[in-house]
Amino acid sequence: MYNITLIPGDGIGPEVSEAAKHVVDATGLNINWETVNAGEKVFQDTGVLVPEKVFQSIEKNKIVLKGPITTPIGSGFRSINVMLRKKYDLYSNVRPVRSLPGINTPFKGIDLVIFRENTEGLYAGIEQELPDGSCEAVKRVSRNASIRIAEAAFEYAKKNNKKKVTVAHKANIMKLADGLFLNCVREVSQAYPDIALQEVIVDNMCMQLVMNPNQFEVIVTMNLYGDLLSDLCAGLVGGLGLVPGANIGKDISIFEAVHGSAPDIAGKNLANPIALILSSAMMLNHMGETDKAEAIIKAVTKTIYEDKVLTCDLGGKATTNEITKAIIKNII
Ligand code: ATP
Ligand code: MG
Repeated sequence: MYNITLIPGDGIGPEVSEAAKHVVDATGLNINWETVNAGEKVFQDTGVLVPEKVFQSIEKNKIVLKGPITTPIGSGFRSINVMLRKKYDLYSNVRPVRSLPGINTPFKGIDLVIFRENTEGLYAGIEQELPDGSCEAVKRVSRNASIRIAEAAFEYAKKNNKKKVTVAHKANIMKLADGLFLNCVREVSQAYPDIALQEVIVDNMCMQLVMNPNQFEVIVTMNLYGDLLSDLCAGLVGGLGLVPGANIGKDISIFEAVHGSAPDIAGKNLANPIALILSSAMMLNHMGETDKAEAIIKAVTKTIYEDKVLTCDLGGKATTNEITKAIIKNII
């Protein structure tokens, strides 16, 4: 039996996490889901943003499936999502972006993975207002964090027989901060003579991705660029409803979709649960349950490609419950 912490989160979070939980259970794995919650709803109900038992559960179980959390303004927190990544040193944010058959998009066969540095950069949260009323945000870049995200990207490339890693940066302008990141990636690449390192300035990267995304296999980049490129890449394969993610640390990992809480469609049974369902497949892979992960991916593919059950964001009419039921039916 596995113990897994489930954090439903805010907005569409409760709907998509309920869906993902049922899909994982349908694989036949014996999972004890420990449900704890944090964020806007908990804050409204209890006045506490992240109850102590959330931390206790994460630290005990070490594996977390998590919906998007909204951090209310005035709660004293910048972002609970960012806080958890920093607190548990979840340094590697892995976001696989793949074309799924049956989704109508301009591109076919996209198969890339973004490795986003997850603990520093412009997300370090070092901001201040200066006496003249102007504001500054500090971009903090360390050698340690840059080396380990580069290693994560190259290790993934090696294990998966990828030929190339692309680093997206802006070292031509931020010569020190981005320069350090770029140099660390170059240094790590030396240990992988069979894998090419391609260096692309991040603005050019945006254009290249939109014109010819199939040229990319593994992308490694800094925190903010990774955030922006992830949404761009999600758009290439059919939107935020499809792209999963993992925040990997040394001993704790949190699996969550790339999308946020989507308040515009929350509570309406309209959300696409696939992004979190595929995140749960990443979680099962991480746990060594590769057959079960594969069963989930196959069931999702069959549901959209053969059964043509699609949610609104994909141009269909299915509700969250309907697509979840269809996916569960396809799990063998
Ligand atoms: P955050 O700041 O938390 O990243 P955001 O403002 O970027 O949030 P998201 O919630 O990530 O917004 O999503 C942007 C929009 O994309 C949503 O408002 C919603 O319309 C759509 N969207 C996102 N996720 C889904 C989903 N799972 N199913 C359907 N539509 C979605
Ligand atoms: Mg967003």
